[in-house]
Amino acid sequence: MRLLVPIKRVIDYNVKPRVKADGTGVDLSNVKMSMNPFDEIAVEEAVRLREKGVASEVVVVSVGPAKAAETLRSALAMGADRAILVSTEDPVEPLAVAKILAGIVAEETPGMVILGKQAIDDDSNQTGQMLAALLGRPQGTFASKVEVDGDFVNVTREVDGGLETVRLSLPAIVTTDLRLNEPRYASLPNIMKAKSKPMATKAPGDYGVDTTPRLTVLKVTEPPVRAGGIKVADVDALVGKLKELGVV
Ligand code: AMP
Repeated sequence: MRLLVPIKRVIDYNVKPRVKADGTGVDLSNVKMSMNPFDEIAVEEAVRLREKGVASEVVVVSVGPAKAAETLRSALAMGADRAILVSTEDPVEPLAVAKILAGIVAEETPGMVILGKQAIDDDSNQTGQMLAALLGRPQGTFASKVEVDGDFVNVTREVDGGLETVRLSLPAIVTTDLRLNEPRYASLPNIMKAKSKPMATKAPGDYGVDTTPRLTVLKVTEPPVRAGGIKVADVDALVGKLKELGVV
């Protein structure tokens, strides 16, 4: 079984985003970019399934700028077998990404597509669901456990109030939650090996997809600045302060 793992290059989760002066978006100039953390978890899960002999090949794909090739190389260094870069310098919305992925699925016929549950830049949480709808395939979102069982996959999902397990017939779409696994660090020999793994370059037009945005961002603003806390001398002072604030 082949596994397809879509990965997005996003602003690194340790970086404090700066909003552009004209309020049209986040300033990405000279900012550290990395693989979306949920996608690292997806790559890790796919590589583990191949190591267990459940899958035979892990293909990673990114829709994004030429620099997304670096992100794909990181996934190859984690153990993915080959990569596809769908190159475009324009922003691509989840629906267009899902359509491109549907085209790649038609060519690659993976048994499972494992995506992150959301990309931490736009927090859309849409691509996996849209891909499942476009393909008419079952989906298991927010997976905290993935167990392939013959022609099925059992996906344990984190839902409000507990865990839910769904059984999907393959081929299926799975999206990863934070607790699915802890992604490995790539070793130096694997980083070197990744340099010679195959990477194909495509364009959105190769899949017949028009990436012209359909959404308009009206305004992006910084979150309100939080007022600093204060230190109190003792419990009496704390209770006094809480009363003063009307909390107790
Ligand atoms: P989103 O719907 O944008 O929150 O993204 C959910 C997941 O879809 C991500 O975690 C990735 O697995 C995948 N994805 C989103 N955008 C891209 C992209 N440009 N290239 C590859 N995969 C993507």
